Amino acid sequence: MFNPALVNRFRQLETPFYYYDLELLKATLKACADASFRHHFLVHYAMKANFNPRVLDTIQSFGFGADCVSGNEVLAAISHGFKKEKVVFAGVGKSDKEINLALDQDIFCFNAESVQELDVIDQLASAKNKTANIAIRINPNVDAHTHHFITTGLEENKFGINTWELPAVAEKLRQCQNLNFLGIHFHVGSQINDLSVFQNLCLKVNEMQAWFQGQGFEVKVLNVGGGLGIDYFLPDKNSIVDFESYFQVFKDFLQINPNQEVHFELGRALVAQCASLISKVLYVKNGLKKNFLILDAGMTELIRPMLYQAYHQIENLSKSGSQEVRESESLGDGKVESQAPSTINHKPSTHYDVVGPICESTDCFRTDVELPESQRGDLIAIRSAGAYGEVMASGYNLRDRVQAVYSEE
Ligand SMILES: *Cc1c(COP(=O)(O)O)cnc(C)c1O
Repeated sequence: MFNPALVNRFRQLETPFYYYDLELLKATLKACADASFRHHFLVHYAMKANFNPRVLDTIQSFGFGADCVSGNEVLAAISHGFKKEKVVFAGVGKSDKEINLALDQDIFCFNAESVQELDVIDQLASAKNKTANIAIRINPNVDAHTHHFITTGLEENKFGINTWELPAVAEKLRQCQNLNFLGIHFHVGSQINDLSVFQNLCLKVNEMQAWFQGQGFEVKVLNVGGGLGIDYFLPDKNSIVDFESYFQVFKDFLQINPNQEVHFELGRALVAQCASLISKVLYVKNGLKKNFLILDAGMTELIRPMLYQAYHQIENLSKSGSQEVRESESLGDGKVESQAPSTINHKPSTHYDVVGPICESTDCFRTDVELPESQRGDLIAIRSAGAYGEVMASGYNLRDRVQAVYSEE
């Protein structure tokens, strides 16, 4: 991803910054568009993964819809050219202000997450003399086999409506004059690499749509959410997700009736690999037991490692040809087994805890990273940072807002 000319360009720039490879983003979007189009599946981009304006414009230009989780995301999607008929509004805690805003914008659909929310949307729609399209987010009690911090489809989760509440939902939908039931919605978690999770989800979706049909509802939309994972261990080898296999699971296992639409909400799989966080080594601290690389980027620029123990590949761009290499293979059960990192050549290497400058001991990107011997001023790339990276940046410690740099400039 980083040729010498690019590294030279980085040397001229103030760090830290997010570097976006827009060509890789486009290639990823094309792969997803081609693979979904074949089955007439509709993909909404889950905007919360990255709402950088250049990223949004690029995604919009491929014709994707937008999956939004706040009123401001709804507005941003529409102002970036996403079609209103392709904007979905999800989220467990939509405020009245946000619901009103989405009603005013005539978006495609609300994904409702509780019985009480149905009442509220109905009342607000009625006051505006409008009808709101509704998909019911069902909690399918499917284990996503992902990190427990990012699993969302189990019964004890705050997300979605549990199956035992569905009779109350059906009753409510019959009562509410200003709601139009469109279909059912699911989202079981994030960073899912084990496709059998989606297979199990399909079986649950089939069961749930049969239940609604049995109650006399027409289910026009099956929205199966997002959550498809990426390879954080080998970002260059697997820079684009295998969308073909992913969509094929739904083609094979979902019971799709004629005239029914199947919707997806992908976030991470579309944007994660297209960005790296580029930082500089400020200080090297050699301790008795540990060595520290202190970077000019920290949890204020990329919080995933600190927030949910996420793994990111780390490379020293100033010591070319000797970046960290981690061999990994995906096992049948989706778990990633990794062997000890090794370096490509035999330059002296050291183990470092790679940390940020923030006054919190959790401000550590990774411990025990094998890297070539590094110095103050070396450029460090933290890979696969395009999803839940720049958008989670904060101003804690009154830090400067992290900048973005693009390949097309
Ligand atoms: C976050 C989210 C997504 C996208 O998840 P990814 O793991 O980034 O694909 C999709 N749908 C809903 C409802 C979400 O909350």
